[in-house]
Amino acid sequence: MTTLRIQFGSAFVEGVPLAPLTRLKVGGPARGLLTVRDTDGLRDVLGVLRKFQVSFLVLGKGANLIIPDEGYEGLVIRLKGKFETIRLIGKKKNATYLHAGAGVSLPRLVARTAKRGLSGLEPLAGIPGTVGGAIVMNAGVPGFSIADALSSVTTLNAALTLRKRARRQLHPVYRHMGLDAGEIVLYATFRLTPEPEERIRGRIREYLARRKNQTWRRLPTAGSIFKNPEGMFAGRLIEACGLKGSRVGDAQISTEHANVIVNLGKASAKDVLELIGRVRREVAEKTGVTLETEVIIARN
Ligand SMILES: Cc1cc2nc3c(=O)[nH]c(=O)nc-3n(C[C@H](O)[C@H](O)[C@H](O)COP(=O)(O)OP(=O)(O)OC[C@H]3O[C@@H](n4cnc5c(N)ncnc54)[C@H](O)[C@@H]3O)c2cc1C
Repeated sequence: MTTLRIQFGSAFVEGVPLAPLTRLKVGGPARGLLTVRDTDGLRDVLGVLRKFQVSFLVLGKGANLIIPDEGYEGLVIRLKGKFETIRLIGKKKNATYLHAGAGVSLPRLVARTAKRGLSGLEPLAGIPGTVGGAIVMNAGVPGFSIADALSSVTTLNAALTLRKRARRQLHPVYRHMGLDAGEIVLYATFRLTPEPEERIRGRIREYLARRKNQTWRRLPTAGSIFKNPEGMFAGRLIEACGLKGSRVGDAQISTEHANVIVNLGKASAKDVLELIGRVRREVAEKTGVTLETEVIIARN
C-alpha cells in the first residue's frame, strides 16, 4: 500500500468505507481504493499488485455487490477518465458501432444511444450499474441480455494480457458473460441499428414503466439475489415457501418481490448473508431446488 500511495498520489485513498459505494449500503471499508483513468494507469497498478501479491476488486456502481462487514482486504479499483467515454466508431451495412468505456453508467449509455437514434439497448433502461459491471454480469431482462447487442469486448487481466474478443468468441450464459476470473473489462463496442429517436424513446418509456411501480427499487437493495433456475422463477419458489417479508435484523425479503433483499435501515452484511443462507436452506428443503446467488459477494 505504501508503494501505491507514493506512486499514485491522490488517486489512492486508504481505509475507504465501501457501504456508501454500493446500492445495498452494507459492509466495511476497503484497505485501499484507487481511481484509474486509462489502460496504461491500470497496467501500472496491476504490476504493483502482482509484485506484492495484493488482491483486487473492480467496483462499478455496486448495484449487484455485497461487501462483508470486515471490509475488503485488497485494493478496490474504480474506472474513470477514459473509461467513461462514449464514441461512435462507424457504420457497416445496416449497423452502427458505438464504443463505450467500462466506467460509463448504463443509464447514461442507454440515454445517449436514444439521443443518437441508435436502437439496441432499450431493454437495459432502468438497470443501474456501469457498462463493465453489466458486461461481466451479462445484465438483462427476460428475452434480452447485453450480450445480444455486443460487438466486442476489450479486457486486461492480472498478468497484463490485453485481449479484444469479438462477440462470437464469447460464451455468454444467463447472468454471466463467461469472462475469466480476474479479467477486467476496459471497453466494449455495441452493434446498434439506426431508428427514429422517438420510436426508441417510446420503447425506453415502456421498459421504465414496467419498473415504475416497484417500490423496492427505491430502497437500498442489490437487485435479484438468486439466479432463476432453468424454467423457474427464484422469486416464486421463495414466495411459495412463505418467506416473503422474513427478516434478519434490518435485512428483509421484500414484501413485493421475493427475490429481492432490502435494507430497511441498519442492516449489516452479516444480516443479509444470514437471510440468504436461510432462504437457500428452506427453499432446498421444501422444493428440492438449490438456489444459486446472482449477487456477487466480495471475498477477501
Ligand atoms: C434496483 C436494482 C435493479 C436491478 N435490475 C436488474 C435487472 O433488471 N437486470 C439485471 O441483469 N440486473 C439488475 N440489477 C443488478 C445490477 O444492476 C447489474 O448486475 C449491474 O450490471 C451491476 O453493475 P455494477 O457496475 O453496479 O457492478 P458492481 O455491482 O459494482 O459489480 C458487480 C460485479 O462485476 C464486477 N465488475 C464491475 N465492473 C467490472 C469491470 N469493469 N471489469 C471486471 N469486473 C467488473 C465486480 O467486481 C463485481 O464482481 C439490479 C440492481 C438493482 C440495485
